[in-house]
Amino acid sequence: MDHFTYRNGVLHAEDVPLPAIAQAVGTPVYIYSRATFERHARVFRDGLAAIPNKHIAFAIKSNPNLAVLNVLSREGYGADVVSGGEMARALAAGVPAKDIVFSGVGKTRAELAQGLKEGIGQFNIEHEPEGVALAETAHAMGLTAPATLRVNPDVDAGTHAKISTGKKENKFGVGIDSAPEIFGRLAALPGLNLRGVAVHIGSQLFDLAPMAAAFERVGALVQTLRDAGHYITHVDLGGGLGIPYKAGEALPPSPADYGDMVARVTRDWNVHLTFEPGRVIAGNAGVLLTEVLWVKPGAAAPFVVVDAAMNDLARPAMYDAWHDFQPVIETGERMTASLVGPVCESGDTFAIGRDIGVVGPGDLAVFRTAGAYGATMASTYNSRALVPEVMVDGDRFAVVADRIPAGTIMAAERVPDWLR
Ligand SMILES: *Cc1c(COP(=O)(O)O)cnc(C)c1O
Repeated sequence: MDHFTYRNGVLHAEDVPLPAIAQAVGTPVYIYSRATFERHARVFRDGLAAIPNKHIAFAIKSNPNLAVLNVLSREGYGADVVSGGEMARALAAGVPAKDIVFSGVGKTRAELAQGLKEGIGQFNIEHEPEGVALAETAHAMGLTAPATLRVNPDVDAGTHAKISTGKKENKFGVGIDSAPEIFGRLAALPGLNLRGVAVHIGSQLFDLAPMAAAFERVGALVQTLRDAGHYITHVDLGGGLGIPYKAGEALPPSPADYGDMVARVTRDWNVHLTFEPGRVIAGNAGVLLTEVLWVKPGAAAPFVVVDAAMNDLARPAMYDAWHDFQPVIETGERMTASLVGPVCESGDTFAIGRDIGVVGPGDLAVFRTAGAYGATMASTYNSRALVPEVMVDGDRFAVVADRIPAGTIMAAERVPDWLR
């Protein structure tokens, strides 16, 4: 459930009519609902109520806005970060260092040192040389790094290839069969407190079975490691729970279904569990507000040209993703149209031949479910401005990320003297 609803035929975010935001900030603009973030955070945590010993770290790559992190931090969420930049954001938003988990397949030695210096709670090691580098860096600093070894369980998560991470051909983690040997070698290094394992098999998962299968393999690995004399206290189960993008379509498993599955599979593990949800918290807490520029005849259906483009919301171009499109003012009439942005490539298409509420030039509309992997993936392609972000809280709203105009981006460029 979210807080983007029609009142008297006008789409609102909580108590704010969206035309008021368009007027104040312009379009395109991302709009987040604080109450929706809080609701999702609570529903996810409630789904895990049966799990006694846990930590929830929001995967901030899905939405790293400082105001969003602030809201989630107040809900007791930590942060799963995948770069030094994300680590700095989490800390700036007030997330305690001990609640930060550092994931990612290409951490640099400088980033590892940054995490050690800040005293973050957990490093998820992706392969043996990274573990060696972490141990060396920590030892040289007189520290011990709390760490898990990320394993690749080789299961097909049944999601889009670009967001599948748990098959053996993917770049993530060490093969689960070689994990005991690698774990043994890393656990012996000074500077490392290798205390468990981590897994994350992909994103937008609509089926609990592959997750359960992956977790069962992790459970077996924990037993193998314990049998070999290792002291295993932590398991990180990653994120990945899917969300509804399309009104009227089959729903993904709920956080409660997910929690039941986890409780069942991990019943006898006797470990502290970490969760790294991203999309399930952020996705339906945001919309992208846009204005229709033109309606242009097309061979099959007319093109509705909006002022948002693939540089603002990359998911349709990148993952063939569906985002529901709704006029801000309800009309009741329908039309079939293709939804496209102004960017000069055909990939800048949000929908082909879609049944939508009638819109015309000057009308406002939203792309729904844009709170995750939306603004954070934006670029300035075609020398477009970097899209701004707004957060709504009841009847008030604030710009939480400025629009960065093309001129500001251009000001960072230099023509060398030898070209003058
Ligand atoms: C992307 C990612 C997540 C979050 O995935 P969602 O599908 O957004 O929940 C969690 N953990 C890791 C390691 C990731 O790379």
